[in-house]
Amino acid sequence: ASPLAQRLQAEREALPIYKAQRAITDEIMRHQSVVIVGETGSGKTTQIPQFLDAAGLTQQGIIAITQPRRVAAISIAKRVADELGTKLGDKVGYSIRFDDTTSPSTKIKYMTDGMLLRELLSDNKLKRYSAIILDEAHERTLRTDILFGMVKAIQKERKDLKIIIMSATLNAERFSQYFDNAKVIYVAGRQFPVRTFAAVQRQEDYVDAALVATFQLHMEEPRGDILVFLTGQEEIDNLQKLIEENARNLPPKCPKIIVTPIYAKLPADQQAKVFEPTPPGTRKIILSTNVAETSITISGIRYVVDTGMAKVRSYNSKIGMESLVVQPISKASARQRSGRAGREAPGFCYRLYSEEAFDSLPEDSEPEIMRCNLASVILLLKASGVDDVVGFDYMDRPSRDSIIRALEQLYALGALNDDGRLSSLGRQMAELPLDPVYSKILIQSKAFKCTKEVISIIAMLSVDLVFYTPNDKREQAGQARKRFMNYDGDHITLYNVLKGYQSVHGDAGWCTENFISGRSLKQALDIRKQLVTFAERMGIDTSVSCGTDFDPILKCFLTGCFQNVALRTPTGEYKTMIGNQTVFIHPSSVLFGKKPVAVLYNELMHTTRQYMRNISVIQPQWLLECAPQYYGRGEAPAAR
Ligand code: ADP
Ligand code: MG
Repeated sequence: ASPLAQRLQAEREALPIYKAQRAITDEIMRHQSVVIVGETGSGKTTQIPQFLDAAGLTQQGIIAITQPRRVAAISIAKRVADELGTKLGDKVGYSIRFDDTTSPSTKIKYMTDGMLLRELLSDNKLKRYSAIILDEAHERTLRTDILFGMVKAIQKERKDLKIIIMSATLNAERFSQYFDNAKVIYVAGRQFPVRTFAAVQRQEDYVDAALVATFQLHMEEPRGDILVFLTGQEEIDNLQKLIEENARNLPPKCPKIIVTPIYAKLPADQQAKVFEPTPPGTRKIILSTNVAETSITISGIRYVVDTGMAKVRSYNSKIGMESLVVQPISKASARQRSGRAGREAPGFCYRLYSEEAFDSLPEDSEPEIMRCNLASVILLLKASGVDDVVGFDYMDRPSRDSIIRALEQLYALGALNDDGRLSSLGRQMAELPLDPVYSKILIQSKAFKCTKEVISIIAMLSVDLVFYTPNDKREQAGQARKRFMNYDGDHITLYNVLKGYQSVHGDAGWCTENFISGRSLKQALDIRKQLVTFAERMGIDTSVSCGTDFDPILKCFLTGCFQNVALRTPTGEYKTMIGNQTVFIHPSSVLFGKKPVAVLYNELMHTTRQYMRNISVIQPQWLLECAPQYYGRGEAPAAR
């Protein structure tokens, strides 16, 4: 065997789970469903599919392993392919939205929970699979929760299907009960003590506090890598720049620093860096979202800096409004985070919040299904043949209100008929790998004759952070942005950026000159290509353009985003049409500082205030024209 294969084999054998291979395999073969609980890093995700393969289960069908996060699916599939000494896409592959590396010879398939849900549309008994492993079950993401109910129902008719629920925390009873008292297997973990230090009080600016804590650890503590938990890409990019700027002023005898970010939308080729061994005389600082909490394990970490915050979806079912909120994590998450410092040796965790703040945290976070818009999963349920979405076997039942809001929204989008069944438009919408709102917009673009533009804009909205602004070049970055700016708003501006990028064939120099993230643009172009394929398959001509009159584009967006509208009040504030909430134009918008009468937005983001992001100017009279099912009931819009 090659030196790499030998090293990987040695690493496998050192995992706590390795010795339990026989016992685990036997239990799974003997039972229809099992729940496996084991410390993060014990080897569940990488090893158990290989155990089942060795036991012959892949001869009866593919093994699916779902992950809530795409980064985890990608990086773990690569790892397992390496361990088996095969090429990614042969025996082992991954499948995530807009990126499928599997082939007919793939037997172990890592995939996002959303992708498996989507496969139910074409294979409603999951016939290709011999086992479904629902991993990271403790996270209770919306899509994993729906899969619990779907696979349970499928197994009633397919006794041969194995269901394996894997969790990093000790909440196995809940899962076991739900799956008809499934057998629970505990995998012994290995965990060294972690000393935890709490701040005296929560710092106002936790990114800054993280910077200070990181440098303090770096200057004072012996070797070992540092893992910093933040809430999203923007913060991670900021802190990376701050660390790199400050690292230049370190005393010469201080070890060098390398900073590696890891977050959901980081392109696959950039992710590998975080797993590369740290060179001697260097300290690696990993800046991560909660993906490094339990989904992926990075070796070499001895120190954790925990901001205590995470970005989560939040939904107000009374008014049907969803937004992203940065909020304190749960105690369970805080413990997981500190645990990451003690996997290989005793470690140290620095919490940037006080002990009292920790005590006041909730024990566990609420399942996502209780706090998000259900429209997309209800559309998928309906399209998979589940008509009674109220009577569905939920592990935790969402509120009646939120189910009704979702049905109303789908009805207003035209996805449901008067009798609540899926319409033919709804069926088409379910086939697109997009949120129902964007599926509707893409399909409607045919009628508005602006498909070319709409596909580009949807692709651009799917990537994060198109523009970047270096601290020392604010002026130039602002000037560069003006080249693309369109006063109708961010949508057309984004379109201009992608058009510019296409016209120079993705030239890297052009991106640098314009302070545009080449990474994001490359990704957007890739997504665009795939959306074109989907649209053409539906008989939509994707070359149809509206030319220089942009109104059709914004009207087309309103046919989907009709709920995301805000009107200016006489005092100059903005109020949302649903819920009458006060919202603000985000400083990143080209409309910042302007005061249009009415705007549509694509996202609400709650930081210090409730901000709208990706905003464009609309005419209020378009509402009736574009969303008559929603605005045409004779009520004044403000009454909604
Ligand atoms: P669990 O699912 O129980 O948390 P995993 O199976 O994910 O554990 O991890 C087992 C081991 O595999 C860990 O030591 C981890 O460092 C290693 N590992 C997983 N993915 C990668 C990767 N992409 N690169 C390098 N090592 C990895
Ligand atoms: Mg795992």
